[in-house]
Parts: sequence; C-alpha cells; structure tokens
Amino acid sequence: MDVNKLLDLSAKLPKRLHGPMERGIRKLPGVQQMMEKEYKTMLADMEKGLRPYDDLVPPMPALPDQGLSEEDILAMTSQMQEKEIDRWSEGYASGAVYHGDPEHIAFMNQVYAMHSQMNPLHADLWPSAVKYEAEVVAMTAEMLNASEAERLHPGTKVCGSVTSGGTESILMAMKAYRDWARRKKGVEKPNIVIPISAHPAFDKAGEYFGIEVIRTPVGPDFRADVKAMKKAINKNTIALVGSAPGFPHGVIDPIPEMSALAHKRGIGFHTDACLGGFIVPWAEKLGYPVPVIDFRLPGVTSISVDTHKYGYAAKGTSVALYRHPSLRRYQYFTTTDWPGGLYASPTMGGSKPGALIAVAWAVMVKLGQEGYLDAARRILETGDVIREGIESIPGLYVLGDPLWIIAFGSDEVDIYRVLDAMAHRGWSLNGLQFPPAVHIAVTLRHTQPGVADRFLSDLAESVEEVRAQPPSRGGMAPIYGMAASVPFRGMVNDILQRYLDLLYKVPPKTRKTRES
Ligand SMILES: *Cc1c(COP(=O)(O)O)cnc(C)c1O
Repeated sequence: MDVNKLLDLSAKLPKRLHGPMERGIRKLPGVQQMMEKEYKTMLADMEKGLRPYDDLVPPMPALPDQGLSEEDILAMTSQMQEKEIDRWSEGYASGAVYHGDPEHIAFMNQVYAMHSQMNPLHADLWPSAVKYEAEVVAMTAEMLNASEAERLHPGTKVCGSVTSGGTESILMAMKAYRDWARRKKGVEKPNIVIPISAHPAFDKAGEYFGIEVIRTPVGPDFRADVKAMKKAINKNTIALVGSAPGFPHGVIDPIPEMSALAHKRGIGFHTDACLGGFIVPWAEKLGYPVPVIDFRLPGVTSISVDTHKYGYAAKGTSVALYRHPSLRRYQYFTTTDWPGGLYASPTMGGSKPGALIAVAWAVMVKLGQEGYLDAARRILETGDVIREGIESIPGLYVLGDPLWIIAFGSDEVDIYRVLDAMAHRGWSLNGLQFPPAVHIAVTLRHTQPGVADRFLSDLAESVEEVRAQPPSRGGMAPIYGMAASVPFRGMVNDILQRYLDLLYKVPPKTRKTRES
C-alpha cells in the first residue's frame, strides 16, 4: 500500500481518529510495515534539509581533542550564517524575523554584549536587571492601557513578569489559574475552554500541569464561537482563552463577548496577544476595526504579549500580564527549607538571560510610542496591499477578515503545491490545515520597497505553475496533504516524534586517515 491508497482509504473513515479505534486499525496485517516504509521516505527527505552543512563545517559529535582557535570558529559560524541571512533579511519569510534592520540588530548586539553575564537571580549583583524587567513589564502594560483599565475598574492593578517567550507566558498564566482555582474553589480536575485556533502552547500547559483542554469550534469567519464556548464550560472550568489575533488565520476573537462570559461565570480569561500585543493597540489608534482586547474589559484577567515578536527585541523574551498581583502570586515558586538557602523564582527558569531583558528594555525605549505606531502603520498598510493582491489572483481566496497575517486557500489548485512552488522561489510560508491553507505573517521585512510586489507576482506565478503542471514526487506538499487528510492522528504524531529525534542526530566523526 502506498500513501495514495492510504489517502483513498482514509477518505472513507471518520474524520480524525485518536486512541483505541486508531490503534485497532494500525494492528491490521501489513499496516504497521506500510507506515514504517512511508515514515522512512518522508524522514529521509526531511533529514537532507536539516543538515546541509556537513561538508562545509565538520560535524562535532564530541568535544574536539583540543579547542579550536576563535578565528577558525568564527570562520565556520559565519560561513553558515552567510548562507542563511539573505532569505530572512530580504523578506522571504513569514513571521520569523520581525524587525531585522542591520542598525537595529547592531544596537541590540551592543546592549547584549554589555550584559552577557547578567543573571536576574542575583539581584544584589545586578540591580539593573531588576530595573529592566520591572520596566519592560510596566511599559508593556501601559501600552495595553493599564492605567485606563485601573481608572475604569477600581481594584484593578496590572502587573506581570518577563518570561522566555510566548509559550512560557502562556504556561505561567495557565499554572496560575490552576493553582488559583484549586485554592479558591477546590477545583481538583481543572479544564480550560479554548477555540481550536488557539496556540498549541495551551495544550502544552495542559500536558505539563494536568489541565484538560476543551477545544471548541470557530465560526465561518474563523473567530471563536462564543455560544459553543458557553456550552462547553462546566464546574471544573478555570479559564477561557481568546487570541488577538490567532496564529493560523490572523483574526481577532470576539474578546469582549468571551471575557464577559468568563466574568459572569467567575472564571479567568486569558487574551493571547503573543502575536498582536504590539500591533493591536496601535491599530486601534490608527482607526483599524479592532475590538478591545485588554484589561479595559473587566473580564480579562491575564494577557500574554511577545516582546520578541512585534516588540522587535531579540528572541527569548515575552511578558505575562495579570489583572492583579494576587493572581500573579499563583505563578511564583518559593521554597524555604533548602540547605542552599531561601529560594524564590517568579517563572519557569532559574537563572535567566538578563542580557535579553536588557535588550528588550533598550529596544522599547529606543522605539518609543512613535516608533511602534509607525512600525504598525507600515505593517498594516503592507498587510492591506498583500490581502488585496491575493484576492485579485484567480483561484485564491482569503480566509476570514484578517489585518496583517493573511491566510489564503484555493478551490481550484492544491494549496500545498502552491506552498512548494513558493518555496522553490525562496519563500518560507506557513502551511495550515483544517481547512488546507497557507499564511504569510507580514513583518517589517515585508515593508521594504518591492517585497510585497515580489510576493504577489511570485504567488500568481506559482498558482499558474501548479495549474499547468501535474504533481511531482517530493517536496512538502505530499506531507502536508497526508497530515491534513489522514485520519490516523497517531501516525501523524509518530512522524512528528521522529522529526524531533532527527533534530538531535549528529553524524559520526569522519576519521580522516592521514596519508604520509
Ligand atoms: C508565537 C505565538 C505563541 C507562542 O509564542 P512562542 O514565543 O513561540 O513561544 C502563542 N500564541 C500566538 C498567537 C503566537 O503567535
């Protein structure tokens, strides 16, 4: 049996199989062998892409016998870096690099270099780290209208922590809700109700912290279905989640309605503004039609906002905000009886890269309100151009009503083959599923002259190419196609697990026999 037969077979099965039913089918004679064969070919394709430098820079499966010279090391790292820089800096990537101007990067590097030894865990050595972190939180909160929220709703006192990224901000908020609900309401089997479009970091929180994740559908506009969420809430529900916007389709959930529902039920509401936190406030000021997403809504109790996305800082920081310090308390970890002394740590990590927090602070202070407003304007304008351009390409349609993260699909051509054709032209876009689609997250890279036009002409060409040519083997299209249509989710999971294994595979050292 090959993948096409499996696809034919799966078309006749219920949409997505997990658990015992899938395991039953996988026990049928020949199925497991067939899968192993498929895994092999797929992973071989992936592996090639993951280690392109083995001929250029020798693999290091163990410490070298003697250390190499700094000069040699820098020669190796720059060889690889030079091969990678053009693609993202010339704007061929969706998301990934959000600012990327050389002067901006040089400034961040300068600040990083000054602070590379800094660890906020040692506040006595680096009180400047305390200043940086507190002010990154305060500036982020204020950008999201904290003072106005405090004026509107007495008792509100916005606070937060800097974390290592959006995922950690989400993990921390979900842990806080879990411990809050256990302490205040005796909830022992907590669940959260979140739309299917919400980020996998919430599932990760569920797995790590023993929280059941109840996923509810989105409407035809790809926004959360509030009625479905209302139905899904039960006595063990500790929080609801909405995205502003969600990663897949870039649309903002009806946060006002959702948070009002949470407020009425006396449970938490988390706005995931990892992606939009540094754009939406400025979009609002620029008159774009965006709902209120922050603490001005009485039901919003926490927000995640990524400084390392549209905050334009270096990778490795994000902010978790809370409506009140009493909720943030449930995020903290403290212990009093360790022989190593008293220990208190606000987030997941122990030692933290203070330099990255210093960089985030420096970037925020450098850009200021004017800088962020201007950046948002340019991104939103480019988003408009790209959206209209996609809508005018025959065979494509835009999903939902997005602003600057534009998802598109097709009823006429295989959109995953379009994704591959774009990859051949250098583009690194995101493949989506349920329904099959592709998106581009517009960043400052795409606001450079000519980039949006190049994207649109490459896209129009790619669609025509896919229309004209029969499918060929290879590329990612068959994998996306398989992943999106095979009902055996355990099989898709297997592939993902093996993919992660691949990331850690180092070829053995090639022993060069010296010829005398
Ligand atoms: C990026 C993102 C996250 C997770 O952030 P990481 O920084 O990758 O951990 C969460 N939610 C949304 C909507 C995102 O776009």
